[in-house]
Amino acid sequence: MKKMKEICGAGNLQSLNGITGSMNPQRHFVELHMESFLHLGGLRTALYNYLFAKKHGGNFILRLEDTDRSRLVPGAADGIEDMLEWAGIPPDESPRRGGLFGPYEQSQRLSLYHEAVQALLESGSAYRCFCTPQRLELIKKEALRRRQTPRYDNRCRHLTSAQVQEKLAQNLPFVVRFQLPSGAHSFQDLVFGWTHHDVASVEGDPVILKGDGFPTYHLANVVDDYKMAVSHVLRGEEWLISTTKHLLLYRALGWRPPAYAHLPLLLNKDGSKLSKRQGDIFIQHFVQRGYLPDAMLDIITNCGSGFTGNQIGRTLPELIEQYNLQSVSTHSALLDLDKLPEFSRVHLSRWIEGADMRAQLVARLQTLLREKYKDATFDREYIERILVLRKGHLILLTDLLSPDYSYLWVRPSVQQEDLHRLSSEASEIGSLVVQILHKSRHDTSLELLSRELKSHLQQLKATKYSTSMQLLRLVLSGIKKGPSVAEMMLSLGVEESIIRVQKALCS
Ligand SMILES: [Zn+2]
Repeated sequence: MKKMKEICGAGNLQSLNGITGSMNPQRHFVELHMESFLHLGGLRTALYNYLFAKKHGGNFILRLEDTDRSRLVPGAADGIEDMLEWAGIPPDESPRRGGLFGPYEQSQRLSLYHEAVQALLESGSAYRCFCTPQRLELIKKEALRRRQTPRYDNRCRHLTSAQVQEKLAQNLPFVVRFQLPSGAHSFQDLVFGWTHHDVASVEGDPVILKGDGFPTYHLANVVDDYKMAVSHVLRGEEWLISTTKHLLLYRALGWRPPAYAHLPLLLNKDGSKLSKRQGDIFIQHFVQRGYLPDAMLDIITNCGSGFTGNQIGRTLPELIEQYNLQSVSTHSALLDLDKLPEFSRVHLSRWIEGADMRAQLVARLQTLLREKYKDATFDREYIERILVLRKGHLILLTDLLSPDYSYLWVRPSVQQEDLHRLSSEASEIGSLVVQILHKSRHDTSLELLSRELKSHLQQLKATKYSTSMQLLRLVLSGIKKGPSVAEMMLSLGVEESIIRVQKALCS
């Protein structure tokens, strides 16, 4: 921790990377706001913290900001941890996992905030404000009438201690405000560089302890970061403006602050704000639609920040290795969700290639199939074969539940008239194909089977090769388009293909 202040003060990223080894264990944290479930922006902030912590041998800490009692959403805290676990970036310390610096819910840390408030009151850096809501409302209205930004007029700064004692004796309600000193120092943000914000010249003294005894974000954030020995704070750009206030609080409390890195906003590709109201930016939505966590992590890091060069297909270990806070730019990151299917296709292919990950896909699909086709069971080898053959074509695992693939799970019903309308040689085609399939029973490949089918079926007199294929596709699947006939046969297996062909063409 001692080194951290130097880094913060020197603000030299080169030295940050250079002395990583000597500042172990780094502690490092993300705070996720509790009013909502995890969305893409939150996932990105969490991921950047996770990558930074893992890259530098630190801990990734999740703390729940739940002091705004009016905005609590039941289940949101668990939902966020569930989603981080789903994404493969679980925190090292959190409400669920615990840790040496707990509790990790702010609502359970009130005594720590009260201690800090007491210290600030005693040193004269904070004061009690007894202004009524009516008075504050009047100040606001007056400012708006003059077209000025409303700010508290700091009136209670000037109460004498006798006046304060008298009001306390009358049991008047109060909040505690932090007395903003004028002439704030500049600070060096690890992304935005030197930043200066003379907060006292534009804002009234901020409330740090509310009437209900709960702290505001500013105080809780400072107290927790300090008490939890946090070394680096990576958070959204929207907090950059508040950082001076936080640093002033550190100074008033006599504490060393952590280093700050503010991450530029994540926006839609047209530059508009990702709206939580759209609902489809919540991670849960992508989980339900069947996206793999790798695809989500890849796309949110592929919009121009933290990595040199964009490329599809990066895995979490690669992200950790390639991540570099120095290449986080101050430009907003533009997220192009239209590209998500391509990210998904690439990562699904990778999952199909790896035996362990393929096993997970198979288990997942077995569950989904049981739900869809009651009582039906499909064995592992069958599903694995299908996945391997369809690799590179599937965007989502759940594509295999669409009507286009139902032939894999149920035998299609085929109209004899349709077949005979296609070719007068339907039964010849049937017996020819059954022979080919019998021959291929023990040893064949997609290439071999395609070649066999082609060389035999091209010799038919009255039926064009492409028509034979159309006919066979219909026989095997009941649909007119889809994978090649040879692939369908290998997916279904030789035995099942023979049954379907015989049933439709040889009876
Ligand atoms: Zn007041």
